[in-house]
Amino acid sequence: MTLTDVIGVLEAAYPPARAESWDAVGLVSGDPAQEVRRVLLAVDPVAAVADEALEWGADLIVTHHPLYLRGTTTVATTTPKGRLIHTLIKNDVALYTAHTNADVANPGVSDALARAVGLVGDLVPLQPFPDDPWRGLGRIGEPPEETTLEEFAARVVKGLPRTSWGIRVAGEPGRPVRRVAVSGGAGDSLLGAAKAAGVDVFLTADLRHHPASEFVEAGGPALIDAAHWATEWPWLDSAASILHESGVTVETRVSATVTDAWTRGY
Ligand SMILES: [Zn+2]
Repeated sequence: MTLTDVIGVLEAAYPPARAESWDAVGLVSGDPAQEVRRVLLAVDPVAAVADEALEWGADLIVTHHPLYLRGTTTVATTTPKGRLIHTLIKNDVALYTAHTNADVANPGVSDALARAVGLVGDLVPLQPFPDDPWRGLGRIGEPPEETTLEEFAARVVKGLPRTSWGIRVAGEPGRPVRRVAVSGGAGDSLLGAAKAAGVDVFLTADLRHHPASEFVEAGGPALIDAAHWATEWPWLDSAASILHESGVTVETRVSATVTDAWTRGY
């Protein structure tokens, strides 16, 4: 397989045209004509992931987060990102990013998160595209049976990979949970949509004190805040499955390296 073949599959599943205008998705480094046998999937393009790629012999790393979201004027080894690019190029490892285009895809990042925490049945976007009701940010789904906030939180802990500080919950532990909204990554901007949807709980990451406090005070759904990395990690398996189902003959590996920014909880 060539890198072009693999990119063709990824871009059919995650069309770059659906990425946000501020985003930076697609091929970051590599030659489209190069051969690809092993693909490592990871959330973050960081040194620990590059090390894992070299150790395993990957030809391509597919990450969710862009390396250069805001552009750059240097790839010198005097910066961590420059060192990473040098390592990848010297070892013929390509780097490809599917970010907000993977968030809004169907199935996308939030579908994988919803399934990881046990939601069943059809999943509908929390904020659908005006021209496509089955694609968009976030997902709404249901647990197999009515549960409580406390029990649902336990399922979230069980369903997501371990991180140093687990999850934080805002809301009455006994509150009934019938409908749940989820959004992988930073979900502040979807608080209003979660309230409007009338769900019982909203699971996301990177929530801040004031928006969360005001939201709960105003009678919004309960909130569960998980580690950013953990909410996006389940998508890696889904992307690997898409590669396998497409018929491209590559070996895939999902990186288990925890690259969440927070490494200790006390
Ligand atoms: Zn993210």
